[in-house]
Amino acid sequence: MPVPSGSAVSGCVFCAIAEGKIPARMVHEDEDFVAFRDLNPQAPTHVLIIPRRHIARMDELLPGDATLAGRLLVLAGEIARSLGLAQDGFRVVVNTGDDGGQTVHHLHLHVLGGRAFSWPPG
Ligand code: 5GP
Ligand code: ZN
Repeated sequence: MPVPSGSAVSGCVFCAIAEGKIPARMVHEDEDFVAFRDLNPQAPTHVLIIPRRHIARMDELLPGDATLAGRLLVLAGEIARSLGLAQDGFRVVVNTGDDGGQTVHHLHLHVLGGRAFSWPPG
């Protein structure tokens, strides 16, 4: 179920990070988004970008969220550029559901860089 803006979901670790209740190495904060370093990085640079609003997973985005979703992608590019990843390239991943490997059920983009990634993914 979509959650109204402003309501954090209790027990959600990313809502807690967005609210400053759990510390994180912040890379970016604004009214609608937070970006921070992954606790268990899978690349030399590994940043997570989340909307402050609790949206559990990508397929819960609604047509009314299109601007938010677009801004999330724009922000990913800006952060990748600001962290020096643009020249060599980087990867953006949204794991979704069990088969997608999602472990935290608050929508997040992984921005990974600083090494080459293989394709297809494992
Ligand atoms: P997922 O597997 O859901 O796509 O990614 C969740 C990511 O969140 C994982 O890469 C994991 O390392 C990261 N993560 C989980 N808990 C925390 C936390 O408390 N702080 C930070 N910074 N990252 C976390
Ligand atoms: Zn949440």
